[in-house]
Amino acid sequence: MADIRKSSIEIEKEEFRKIGHQLIDDISDFISSIDQKPVSPNESPSQLQALIGNLSLPENGKPARELISKATALLFNHSLLNGHPKFLGYITSSAAPMGALADLLAASVNPNVGAQILSPIATEIEKQTIRWLAEFIGVSADYGGLLVSGGNMANFTAFLAARTAKAPKSFKEDGIQGTSKKLTVYCSKTTHTWIEKAVILFGLGSKSIRWIQTDDSNRMDINVLEKTLQADLDDNCIPLMVVGTAGDVSTGVVDNLTEIAAICKRYDLWFHIDGAYGAPAAIIPKLKSLFAGIKDADSIALDPHKWLYSPLEAGCALVKNPQHLIDTYSSHPEYYNFSNTGEGSAQNFYEYGLQNSRGFRALKVWLTLQQVGRSGYEKLISKDIELSEMLFELAKKHPELEAVTQNLSITTFRYIPSGEAQTKEILNKLNEDLLNELQTGGELFLSNAIVFEKYCLRACFVNFRTSQEDVKEIIEVIIREGRKAYSKLSQPD
Ligand SMILES: *Cc1c(COP(=O)(O)O)cnc(C)c1O
Repeated sequence: MADIRKSSIEIEKEEFRKIGHQLIDDISDFISSIDQKPVSPNESPSQLQALIGNLSLPENGKPARELISKATALLFNHSLLNGHPKFLGYITSSAAPMGALADLLAASVNPNVGAQILSPIATEIEKQTIRWLAEFIGVSADYGGLLVSGGNMANFTAFLAARTAKAPKSFKEDGIQGTSKKLTVYCSKTTHTWIEKAVILFGLGSKSIRWIQTDDSNRMDINVLEKTLQADLDDNCIPLMVVGTAGDVSTGVVDNLTEIAAICKRYDLWFHIDGAYGAPAAIIPKLKSLFAGIKDADSIALDPHKWLYSPLEAGCALVKNPQHLIDTYSSHPEYYNFSNTGEGSAQNFYEYGLQNSRGFRALKVWLTLQQVGRSGYEKLISKDIELSEMLFELAKKHPELEAVTQNLSITTFRYIPSGEAQTKEILNKLNEDLLNELQTGGELFLSNAIVFEKYCLRACFVNFRTSQEDVKEIIEVIIREGRKAYSKLSQPD
């Protein structure tokens, strides 16, 4: 081999192997014993700061082996473990072990998936991943798109494509100043906060959102949507898009996508679906009708790092006609010697979204889709839904629990002390106290939701490690801690 430059950043071959083997052994032990550890370490920021030491930037280097070994111990022993079978908080999944291997491999080769010339095979793999994700959720494989960091970015990517498609053609040059008409967007009150960020960041302003009220089942009220649209058109507004949610963050409700699609068609509006959490459930045959309108969406956001169990970060924006992405994002500075897109020629992902240099997020998604397969995912997602239904049924039967909602794989419920009736305020305070106890206790991890003004405990199952036994044990812990929290609340010391 040729004379290799000695540099402090290179790790010599034998040493790399040793460190790597040790690391893989340690990760393997960590994953196989994750259920034995507390879900959360319950340590304060100052305790954690003391652990890493209040040091200034290191002047001189240290051996890689020592650093990796210390970092391994820090991460394994002082992290919140979302890979734990009793972690059901927010919408963060257990990470597929394949993802860890894929990220190591991707970082080792380090393709820049912004341009085809910089990432020849990685670009083709990302294109195939996008097609597979479209097939997964049951839309045409001709949808185009790209992987992004998560749901927020996927929704932003689509939002901007919608703005390009539906705002006056002069928008690119004149911006928001170019029109005296108000650009408006429509979504239900259950829509995730990304929409507020989007209208503020992208110049429409928070008043451009028409928050459509929901019906009894918490879905967008279509009659109110249509009336609001007509009123805005009479008022000289330019409606751009309607956002339907497929699995809302709090309770997992799926909007009536078919009806929203019909309205969008009638009024020539962009139909965007935020399926960051729920879209993968479209793979379940018995949920087909719930997701029927998904095929009509102009754009869809979904998060492989949620219900496809990919490690963070992986979101995905899919657009029915990918030309809208190119119209929005493509630019050709003279220092780019990249060929143009088009059938049969190279696809440059920098022209599809906000990023320029891009990492190879697709690899972990691509490999896990192959490891598990369509049928495997159908089983995993069904099981999550089944466990969520089981929790709901157990809560319904238990005299000290009230089952509140169950949709997709999200269950909301609350603790109700037996005996005399309690006021709404006391029950809300009790469940808030209980949740705080549970989150710091380390036995399990849930989050909260406010449903019909009730403070609820919320369990979201996007966890391939959770079993029926875990669900039963979760109920036991909640009853035990609920009683404690209630006696604390009734007899404050
Ligand atoms: C999680 C979620 C988001 C945000 O996704 P991130 O990956 O956290 O950026 C947006 N919308 C819905 C419906 C979600 O569930």
